[in-house]
Amino acid sequence: MDRKAKTPEQAMEFARAVARHQGWVLNPDDGFVADLADGLARNYGRYGYFLCPCRDGDGERSDDADIICPCTYAVPDQQEYGHCFCGLFLTKEFAARRQAPQPIPERRSAEA
Ligand code: SF4
Repeated sequence: MDRKAKTPEQAMEFARAVARHQGWVLNPDDGFVADLADGLARNYGRYGYFLCPCRDGDGERSDDADIICPCTYAVPDQQEYGHCFCGLFLTKEFAARRQAPQPIPERRSAEA
């Protein structure tokens, strides 16, 4: 395997570790989370870092720094909507309400 490659399971473990470390909750939809883990693994293989699976990057780490998972916008999006842009990471409060994440505005384009 390429030195830079990550398997979807490694990406999933990364997401679990981020959630654990940040005090967030993974989206309870396992299939959805598996798709995002696939995307994270694919992006890692392509770029060498866990670029957000819901966004297009430039392929330059310095230009993409704000959208490397967990992105700069995760916390403000969670504060406003209860989950990150992809819907991968939920706040505990949002998760407790058992609501499905909804599409939210792209904060990056407004701030970048
Ligand atoms: S929106 Fe941010 S925190 Fe959520 S998966 Fe994408 S990069 Fe990670």
